[in-house]
Amino acid sequence: MTYTIIDHEFDVVVVGAGGAGLRASLGMSAAGLKTACITKVFPTRSHTVAAQGGISAALNNTGDGDDWRHHFYDTVKGSDWLGDQDAIEYMCKNAIDAVVELEHMGVPFSRDENGNIYQRQFGGHTIDHGKSMARRACAAADRTGHAILHTLYQQCLSHNTEFFIEYFTLDLLMDEQGICRGVVAWCLDDGTIHRFRAHMVVLATGGHGRTFFTCTGAHTCTGDGNAMALRAGLPLADMEFIQFHPTGIYGAGCLISEAVRGEGGYLTNSLGERFMPKYAPNAKDLASRDVVSRAMAIEVKEGRGCGPNKDIAMLHMEHLDPKIIAERLPGMADTARVFAGVDAYKDPIPVQPTVHYNMGGIPTNYHGEVTCDSRETIVEGLMAIGEAACVSVHGANRLGTNSLLDLVVFGRAAAIRAKEVVKPGVSHVKLDDSVTDVILTRFDKTRYASGTLMTGHIRTNMQQIMQSHCGVFRSRETLEAGREKLVECAKSLDNIQVNDHSLIWNTDLVEALELQNLMVQAMVTIESARYRTESRGGHAREDFPDRDDEAWLAHTLSWCDDNLTVKLDKRPVHMYTLTDEVEAIQLQKRVY
Ligand SMILES: Cc1cc2nc3c(=O)[nH]c(=O)nc-3n(C[C@H](O)[C@H](O)[C@H](O)COP(=O)(O)OP(=O)(O)OC[C@H]3O[C@@H](n4cnc5c(N)ncnc54)[C@H](O)[C@@H]3O)c2cc1C
Repeated sequence: MTYTIIDHEFDVVVVGAGGAGLRASLGMSAAGLKTACITKVFPTRSHTVAAQGGISAALNNTGDGDDWRHHFYDTVKGSDWLGDQDAIEYMCKNAIDAVVELEHMGVPFSRDENGNIYQRQFGGHTIDHGKSMARRACAAADRTGHAILHTLYQQCLSHNTEFFIEYFTLDLLMDEQGICRGVVAWCLDDGTIHRFRAHMVVLATGGHGRTFFTCTGAHTCTGDGNAMALRAGLPLADMEFIQFHPTGIYGAGCLISEAVRGEGGYLTNSLGERFMPKYAPNAKDLASRDVVSRAMAIEVKEGRGCGPNKDIAMLHMEHLDPKIIAERLPGMADTARVFAGVDAYKDPIPVQPTVHYNMGGIPTNYHGEVTCDSRETIVEGLMAIGEAACVSVHGANRLGTNSLLDLVVFGRAAAIRAKEVVKPGVSHVKLDDSVTDVILTRFDKTRYASGTLMTGHIRTNMQQIMQSHCGVFRSRETLEAGREKLVECAKSLDNIQVNDHSLIWNTDLVEALELQNLMVQAMVTIESARYRTESRGGHAREDFPDRDDEAWLAHTLSWCDDNLTVKLDKRPVHMYTLTDEVEAIQLQKRVY
């Protein structure tokens, strides 16, 4: 191993240039901190660009009486009481300023007839604890993430964030005291290795949807930051909570936004029957995502699925005014045409619950600081935000449009905190070279791996195990069988074959590294799902169908060592708020 290392020094290094990473980079640069933003894909190709439906904020532009306290209630209920209520209060209260700030930065939101930001209905968004549906999702047609991401990138450029684009971050530089001192990254374009020293590292590396076979997320959603945290001996939280979106296009997995149902679309079974009123008499097709996905799975199980294999449902938007489709949902009609071969103006779209979002991730407090145990001890020098993090505002189930909000609110919060704890220009602690050597030895081992199994083969195997053993419904039996298969699959990584040993645009090596990252996350996901013997939000155990607040009003913490042995623990949920502006919501049964 002979690598020449190029050294850099920054006050802060943000890994990831999605909505979360860019909002944090912007705030940190604007606060006078020397900020680097490292990203494996071009910033505006981050998965945030694909976000469609909207970003929530109780602006009350439609005069329906919306208020951030309603948003707070809906989010706590949506989370099935697993969300931390202090963090939820912080997010919902700050939502209004965050969206107005985006508007002032230049996000081209759609407009209502009064020229205000256009707001539509979304699942689980209500007024007065479910009395009526709220219009809370602020939208730029059905391309809201695209609009936000481009605006944030432009703002970062104007605030002189230094970008390291198409650099693949390998691992965190942790010192002996467990303080994070920087990262090591590989430049994909010229093959050079870079060491970034920083007083604060912010992981904004997004979700890990690609642990599953069908997923709405980009192929780059491999949760690299989560795996870096695990390798640094840190835990992940609530990894069993995977959101299945009800309307992924059958076969392709591409998302048809909930905005379609927000504008009046609905689902039917093979009898042509609208089935959601049976499962959610009030909210119907706009019940929260876990509820709709489970209803679809039950319809299929009971023989009322559509299609040749009777395993799908139909999503209707053909009854909507074509003007509404063209104006508010143009991308959805395109997606249906390209990926399902359906003219959505005339025919229904075949859909299936598809992995969409990871509620779990790196545990943090509401300032974005990473915590590492059940007492919430802070890890110095490390923050996590966005889908990579578990703040936890989404708890056991995320409401639609709350992720884009989470990105900007906690990206901003991290910048505020960094300004308080990082002094600009202070010199960096010298770290022993052995820390970098460990990272590059692992890199080298993968680069020259000469086994017999291709990355794609092992990856498909892992994804299919997760899909069939850790799906919408789970049981001890399926999870234990899945875990056994997954252990075997993980062992097969020792027999991986990387053919390309070069360092320039070596996608073979990138995919092998991403697969290693996915594998540890799959392990902690299936182990956490086995550990939690109750049903809550997105985690439905057939053998434990009820929520068990006595035993499980707690976040799961999971560690995974180099031998893939998983350790588990719990930490209590925050059932309190930060101020007396809103009262904590006591436990209730969750019905829609
Ligand atoms: C199809 C789709 C539609 C959605 N629609 C909505 C919606 O309407 N409303 C809503 O609220 N939410 C929506 N979501 C969810 C939301 O978009 C995501 O949760 C959110 O965008 C994640 O943002 P992020 O900044 O955390 O990560 P991402 O946008 O995924 O960005 C991750 C960043 O990390 C970088 N990175 C990762 N690994 C490395 C590495 N090893 N080295 C260097 N860089 C790395 C990547 O280059 C990228 O820049 C949607 C999601 C999908 C998939």
